[in-house]
Amino acid sequence: MSNLDRAPVPSVCGGRGFVVAEPVRELLSPRRVRLGASTEVRRLLPNLGRRMVGAWAFVDHYGPDDIADEPGMQVPPHPHMGLQTVSWLHDGEVLHRDSTGSLRTIRPGELGLMTSGRAISHSEQSPSSHARFLHGAQLWVALPDTHRHTDPRFEHHTELPRVTAPGLSATVLLGTLDGATSPGTAYTPIVGADLALTRGADARVPLDPDFEYAVLSMSGEAHVDGVPLLPGSMLYLGCGRTELPLRAESDAGLMLLGGEPFGEELVMWWNFVGRSQEEIARAREDWMTGTRFGEVKGYDGEPLPAPELPSVPLKPRGRVR
Ligand code: MN
Repeated sequence: MSNLDRAPVPSVCGGRGFVVAEPVRELLSPRRVRLGASTEVRRLLPNLGRRMVGAWAFVDHYGPDDIADEPGMQVPPHPHMGLQTVSWLHDGEVLHRDSTGSLRTIRPGELGLMTSGRAISHSEQSPSSHARFLHGAQLWVALPDTHRHTDPRFEHHTELPRVTAPGLSATVLLGTLDGATSPGTAYTPIVGADLALTRGADARVPLDPDFEYAVLSMSGEAHVDGVPLLPGSMLYLGCGRTELPLRAESDAGLMLLGGEPFGEELVMWWNFVGRSQEEIARAREDWMTGTRFGEVKGYDGEPLPAPELPSVPLKPRGRVR
């Protein structure tokens, strides 16, 4: 998905200064963002209280929305730079097209992983004939300096490793959880996992004390380290944990996001992750003049124009506030 905000605020993030070294329980409230006519998403990252969790730099939760009589998700071609996008669905499907020639339908339980590298453009749509409900998460992973100029590519993984315990089934999207490693290409030490809990579950998930973590609630009523978490909210957990206690009052769906704290400072604006304002301005210019980001073939409609760059120079604000 794209950041469709018409007046996106640039944010500077990354660096280790604001990583919490100890276990904490910091509840992050979502910001509601309208995407087009019918869709509203809950944005958890970047958040007023926190900008990154490991290399995870952007988290939107959307739905479940009844789109039976609506077009559903309709995001025209738009560019990305310096990041990977992770598409993850609990209901519905998303038709993905990109400038490397990919044409794929992503379904629940399948990983759509797009590595923008130096430049890619893509569109995302609910197919014309689609399921009644659309429910999912759109996440971005920042690429480290050593890999951010890599060639763009799209990966579609329909088979993902699973870790199970009584009442818990964990699907590993990215990185490694409890010895199970996703086939998705990762460029930093990271983990992303979908945690499906059944009613009454009382489980513990093993964690890496060197990673920082957060848990996003997708559905149901669950307690994460004793904190009740409602769908569309996220709990930041800090570092220094070897396991995470989970309890479910009903069937519940969570996403565990974690990774080694991202040491490099980033500049994020619209759909770009860079290292300076000049780099972001050049990317915007290249998109608007039709260079570098390629063409999304087969999409019926105009590409998304970039918003104006704010004239105020970027000021480093660190990982929080
Ligand atoms: Mn996108």
